[in-house]
Amino acid sequence: MPLRGIRTTSNLDLPTLGIELNIVYLTTEAVPFAKTGGLADVCGKLPSVVADAGHQCAVIMPAFDSIRRSQMTIEQTEMSFAIEMPGDRIVGGRVLRSYLPGGMVPVYFVDQPQYFSRPFLYGDKHGDYRDNAERFIFFCRAAIEVMKRMDRPVDLIQCNDWQTALVPALVQNDGHGFPRDTPTVLSIHNLAYQGSFPAESFEATGLPWDRFRSDSFEYYGGMNFLKTGIVTADQVCTVSPTYAEEIKTPLHGCGLDPILRSLGDRVSGIINGIDTDIWNPAKDVNLVRNYDVTNWEHGKLENKLALQAELGLPSNPDVPMIGLVGRLADQKGWDLILPVMREHLRERRPTQWAVLGSGDPVIESELTWLASEHPDQLAAYVGFSDPLAHRIEASSDLFVMPSRYEPCGLNQLYSLRYGTICVVTETGGLADTIINTTRETVENETATGFHLRGHDAASLDRAIGDALRLRFHEKEIWKKIVERGMTRDWSWGASALQYIELYEKTISLKQNGKMRV
Ligand code: ADP
Repeated sequence: MPLRGIRTTSNLDLPTLGIELNIVYLTTEAVPFAKTGGLADVCGKLPSVVADAGHQCAVIMPAFDSIRRSQMTIEQTEMSFAIEMPGDRIVGGRVLRSYLPGGMVPVYFVDQPQYFSRPFLYGDKHGDYRDNAERFIFFCRAAIEVMKRMDRPVDLIQCNDWQTALVPALVQNDGHGFPRDTPTVLSIHNLAYQGSFPAESFEATGLPWDRFRSDSFEYYGGMNFLKTGIVTADQVCTVSPTYAEEIKTPLHGCGLDPILRSLGDRVSGIINGIDTDIWNPAKDVNLVRNYDVTNWEHGKLENKLALQAELGLPSNPDVPMIGLVGRLADQKGWDLILPVMREHLRERRPTQWAVLGSGDPVIESELTWLASEHPDQLAAYVGFSDPLAHRIEASSDLFVMPSRYEPCGLNQLYSLRYGTICVVTETGGLADTIINTTRETVENETATGFHLRGHDAASLDRAIGDALRLRFHEKEIWKKIVERGMTRDWSWGASALQYIELYEKTISLKQNGKMRV
């Protein structure tokens, strides 16, 4: 039985060229089905907004265990397939179906319990799952099987990150009956995660070994999913304009910068939007008090008092609360945060810290230990909690993101909307979305946060100090910065329009023979 796409009617005021496209998003994460980071927020929302603009969209992702905890209805389809893997093994798969919230966009889940029915998506406390290469090669090949069974030809495939990056090569080389000239866009949400594996893993792809060369799929003797995608996709896209330029430099190129440079303007950057239904302080069900730009001072204060009670911090309306939510990974600048935090705690400076994160066990244990030593100043929740993330955004005065690099970053956008001033590094999406507070930007009314002057703990300490001075001594300026951030529009509309333009451009260049096949 063919899979049915959903035809949509446009209820969003986005201009298009008038051609209804059938776009398929391949991903391993999409809210509310599976999430470890920002990829899930993007793939859980962008397809719906593109569908709202009049296109037909579908998502294909693995049937991880977490999809059954999503509270969404998951149904069986009649479709199944079998894929030949090395060692004469035939691995079967079934397809389940649900919809993204809103009901417009079908989500097809590749169900293969041996690969995907595990407690975590990519690995556990011992590290990455050892068979990740095989798992995601299977997923890429299975996604093509699903697309072959769609009731309408696919106009464009958008791959997301390394786990889906083999698809352009598979399609072009031998899609097993899938049109080889289907246009492809590869979206890179974080270049540092490339899917590098020993050369033997390549066998399971079924791709020709004669392309396992350094100028094609091979990378330093091994296989590299992301490089394979970069050299074969028609367009490469990243999640902010600044990151699109940064990844062409040795500092941020993670070894792939020469290839990315050689692609020129085939690499572009589109800033992520945010889901303004989920991240809206006026309606957020996780908060004790909803608020908007007219009553944020009172609203944030009530949320702060409630969070202090929830986290066991002393009740104090005046103490500035510094919030942090995110992966506990080097990328996020923990080598800067921890020394500054220790200094604040040791000197008993008048700040409270609310931290939520999981990841690196060394950072996890240091945070837990510091919180036990300084329970009146630091609350650290090690784990993943979406409701708590919302409450920290609403309750904090400052939000700290001194990332080494940040492809886009979502928490600074949530912070802007929740009236929480961000202290950030001037990199990637942080540079594109947070305008530093200087005399000039205060005067021309553009300031929305604070940039670190250098990437070191002293710069972070100074930036936090500058922000707090403003909060206590320049209250009118502080108020304006908060309210400016709250009223900025970071919803998906403008970004989705840029994606649609990119899809249309990719398709027309391909049709005119200006792309590689
Ligand atoms: P990245 O994708 O690099 O992890 P982003 O800022 O783009 O960073 O997106 C991270 C997303 O994951 C945000 O929605 C953030 O709120 C969420 N998040 C990260 N860690 C946690 C956690 N421990 N609990 C709840 N939400 C989290």
